[in-house]
Amino acid sequence: DTATPWHYTNAAAVAGQLPPRPKFSHKGTFGHALLLAGSRGKMGAAVLAAGACLRSGVGLLTAHIPGCGYDIFQISQPEAMCLTDAQADFISELPDLSPYQAVGIGPGLGQDAASLAVLRQLLEAAAKPLEKTGQSLPLVIDADALNLLGRHRELLKLLPENTVLTPHPKEFERLTEPARDDYHRLELLRDFATRYRCLVVLKGAYTCLATPSGELHFNSTGNAGMATGGSGDVLTGVLLALRSHAQLPAFEAVRLGVYAHGRAGDLAAAQTGQAGLVAGDIVRHIGPALAEV
Ligand code: AMP
Ligand code: MG
Repeated sequence: DTATPWHYTNAAAVAGQLPPRPKFSHKGTFGHALLLAGSRGKMGAAVLAAGACLRSGVGLLTAHIPGCGYDIFQISQPEAMCLTDAQADFISELPDLSPYQAVGIGPGLGQDAASLAVLRQLLEAAAKPLEKTGQSLPLVIDADALNLLGRHRELLKLLPENTVLTPHPKEFERLTEPARDDYHRLELLRDFATRYRCLVVLKGAYTCLATPSGELHFNSTGNAGMATGGSGDVLTGVLLALRSHAQLPAFEAVRLGVYAHGRAGDLAAAQTGQAGLVAGDIVRHIGPALAEV
């Protein structure tokens, strides 16, 4: 039925969507992304998201992390730049946003009140249209940043148009209400995306991307080996890179990122088996996955 707003993201849907890198491009061509992530005991989430962002073609990446993560982060992601927060254990400050084309927040963030204040400041700052594009600053919101939004729903009305949210079903329930069943959850998903004019990625097998116009796009890639800690942090990094890309519209960037993340998981599982797969294996296969599309 062509009238129903259901779609399936397969290889054909994303074919040719990643713009080629022009011969005379330079690192400024592909955007500078900012990642706000990590807290004591969860620096791995920041490392994984940063690694995924770098493997997804971003020009430059800066991560703002708590002080305790400095050595961990710089040693494990030498290609990224790093700003440290005044707090050792969590993020309490929002850096100057003017250098960046997109901002990701959430992986390993924790839910300290100071991090909530940073999230609020980010939403307020991002809403102002950028001089260059005339649009709001692209945001990718995941993990504990979603949990903070769920606990402070008055912030939802601050979400700039086309903000990307990547909840798993539990995080989505915290943003909305418990779903009676899977179908009801999809109705809640479509309502949420249209009401807040956001791109919402409900993660799981057959991850469903809901658009501000109420379309639902089911992803075809990915496998149960990806049901392992850190897989979602990798997706955040992929989406952050693609939202930094000046040539990719918001919806196309997110659909492509979700597809490539799952495909990277499939390529990884072909080597490690599903049980042996860890999130870092997904990061290492993003390059080949993007090269295929
Ligand atoms: P998170 O729960 O935030 O770590 O995110 C998990 C990631 O792994 C999401 O991108 C999911 O779509 C993916 N994932 C988890 N379980 C499965 C599964 N059974 N099949 C396909 N993808 C999965
Ligand atoms: Mg997660």
